[in-house]
Amino acid sequence: MVPESSITPCRLSARPVLGVSLHNVWVLRLDLLGGAAPGNKVFKLRHQLRRAREAGVRRIVSFGGVWSNHLHALAATGAELGLETVGVVRGAEMETPMLADARRWGMQLVPVSRAQYRQRHEPSWWRELEQRFGPCLVIPEGGGNAEGVLGCLDIAHMINAAQQRFSRILVAVGSGTTLAGMAAGLAPHNQLFGVSALKGANDLEQRVQDALDECALPARCNWQILHDAHCGGFARTSIDLRQFMLEFEQVQAVPLEPVYTGKLVYAAFRRIASGEWSSGEPMLVVHSGGLQGRRGYDWLAPQA
Ligand SMILES: *Cc1c(COP(=O)(O)O)cnc(C)c1O
Repeated sequence: MVPESSITPCRLSARPVLGVSLHNVWVLRLDLLGGAAPGNKVFKLRHQLRRAREAGVRRIVSFGGVWSNHLHALAATGAELGLETVGVVRGAEMETPMLADARRWGMQLVPVSRAQYRQRHEPSWWRELEQRFGPCLVIPEGGGNAEGVLGCLDIAHMINAAQQRFSRILVAVGSGTTLAGMAAGLAPHNQLFGVSALKGANDLEQRVQDALDECALPARCNWQILHDAHCGGFARTSIDLRQFMLEFEQVQAVPLEPVYTGKLVYAAFRRIASGEWSSGEPMLVVHSGGLQGRRGYDWLAPQA
């Protein structure tokens, strides 16, 4: 495993992307952290898995889709820690490289219908799962709970420890758990932007606030969510996004994936290109990993 202290923000090259220089954009590459499934999901899982192990729990149950970065990370980390893992998978109709990896790492896959999957937050279904697979720990989809927030404090600490100071810091948002942890750990001079991967998720601000309240942690910096970067909706892509990602990867040699990190970097790019954000100020984008998902997109260049 690459130690966290060796991952520091790295500056993009001055070579322009689609005619725009991103020379003051820095990237915290959690995708380089090592392990079989690097990225933010490892941070979200670390406390709960350690606690489970200490409590003598041998089996972890969680939920996700057929491309879930969360199930991928859970299967990988579970195998490393010697924990049994069970993945409740939405929609049984599709086989993916993600599911193949998870199975190879020993995760037991339990396909359920989309209708059943919608019950994933229902306590009664959790109790059923606990009876069926118990003794076990059930973790919500995406690792999105208070312990997930606490794990993401460590991402903020990595940024606080960097030599370079940043005013704007950007991170991709699905559930907002990662954003909440970072907001609780960054410094007051930071301005944190969450780039929503979802279309019209107008309750995200409330969900982030609820997540902070649940941990009794106040936000230490200003934060806000950008809702205009979904490029058509969750896991959808637009021609513009595709064109940007292909050119960015070629010029900068930093791989992205279209669900989260591509939209994240594209959101920063568009604000710099339009002049809304000054390119004279150092800003940081957090690469939250998820690169296993690239395998679902044949228009991307194969990853070196
Ligand atoms: C899950 C995920 C996110 C979103 O994290 P949340 O804590 O749910 O907001 C961002 N990037 C990647 C690569 C992810 O897998």
